[in-house]
Amino acid sequence: MNEILRIMRKPIKQARNSWDGETGKQRAKEVKKIILEVADNYSNVLGLTKLEVIKAIEDKRTYSSINYYQKANFPKLKDDVIVYENQKELHEKIQPKRGFRCPSCGGISKDPYTCDSGEKNSDGKICDWKAYGLFGTMGKGLRFTVKDMFLENPRVDEIFMPIHLEELKIPTLKEIESVARDYIMKKFDEKLDGTWSFEVQYFGECKLKRLAIIYTNKNCSKPIYNEANENADELFKEAYNWLKTGIK
Ligand SMILES: [Zn+2]
Repeated sequence: MNEILRIMRKPIKQARNSWDGETGKQRAKEVKKIILEVADNYSNVLGLTKLEVIKAIEDKRTYSSINYYQKANFPKLKDDVIVYENQKELHEKIQPKRGFRCPSCGGISKDPYTCDSGEKNSDGKICDWKAYGLFGTMGKGLRFTVKDMFLENPRVDEIFMPIHLEELKIPTLKEIESVARDYIMKKFDEKLDGTWSFEVQYFGECKLKRLAIIYTNKNCSKPIYNEANENADELFKEAYNWLKTGIK
């Protein structure tokens, strides 16, 4: 613990000295809070000690602590950041040779960070959008970190969305809900006046593992529709096709 406090002293002091009085104190408090939160979350997910995490991220800091220790730079792992075990898994999962979707021009870039699609943007200029620019990937990219490289490269990477993942993309929970709601309505040809719930489990980052749709009508005590499927893709596909073909 003493070693952790020793490492944290420098960035905290720098934050405090960045402004006079209360503002400086507030900034120091914020930096301390973020370092501890990151250490807690990252050490748990990556199987490292808090000391290892704090030392690695502080060692790589090249600018002011108040700009470095920001939530945007150290997003919570597992929220919308994918953790790959190693470089091999990363390559297998994203298939870099297939290219990356540029969030600006929509073209396919060979480079995951700087668009080289050759497409023009709406201003007529050849696109050179950068994933590390001010607007990042505008929420359309992929954020990840590699577990066994974290100590040398303690950061969350943001790249254009790999074409391979784009094709495998699973429906969002909202999409599942809306399809399932219509599915149940069609299946029972009634208005939804009961309660229903879902259970969704994901397998890896792009496959649905299990999808259960449970629907209870207010007049019945037992669920009138309770389907769970280990092959969730299939159940989802069935529901989806059903709707598309309009079968009642
Ligand atoms: Zn582009």
